[in-house]
Amino acid sequence: MIRERIALSCVLLAGFTVTLANEDRHEHGAHEHGSGRMDVAVEKNTIDIDLDSPAVNFVGFEHEPGDAKEKATLDKAVADLKHVGALIAFTPAAQCTQKRVRVTSSLLGEGEDAGHDDHDHEEHADHHHDDEAVHGHDHHDEGDSDEHDHADINATWEVTCARPENLREIDFSGLFGRFAGTHSLRIQAALPNGQTSTELTPDSPRLKW
Ligand SMILES: [Zn+2]
Repeated sequence: MIRERIALSCVLLAGFTVTLANEDRHEHGAHEHGSGRMDVAVEKNTIDIDLDSPAVNFVGFEHEPGDAKEKATLDKAVADLKHVGALIAFTPAAQCTQKRVRVTSSLLGEGEDAGHDDHDHEEHADHHHDDEAVHGHDHHDEGDSDEHDHADINATWEVTCARPENLREIDFSGLFGRFAGTHSLRIQAALPNGQTSTELTPDSPRLKW
């Protein structure tokens, strides 16, 4: 059901994504629907992964949840992002486990982290829809209509590996499968064999070295 909603939203969004592409790009070249950015750093036994992606790629919308269904969709997405094992796979012999995770988004309210997701944003009487700080964006400072707000979701994971010498690849196919609105990930990586930048897609979801 959620997936269907996301798929439908993507179809609906596809039309204005094209028209918004230009104004998105001159902002900071980051917010492009369907695409996410990810930094990956492998150092000794620690892997740091930092994902920054338009919220639409995860939940199909970029406004604060307007009803219980949208809130449930957002809560589920955040909950799923907190389990790196279901989204990102590491060479099994490296014996990697998640040590720390943090999920943040202006959609979660005041830019606080998802540790606050137990409290009920939906029940707040005063929604600050016009408050720039809530959305964390200055797109509409450009003088354009503020008909479309944009928001990102940021997830950072720290993973440690008992046998890091066995680590040979990081597989993001779980993430592409769970969040079908993500069509590409632009990766900047510091790997044991050096720095690289690449783009991963559902058809090519692995970072190897
Ligand atoms: Zn957007």
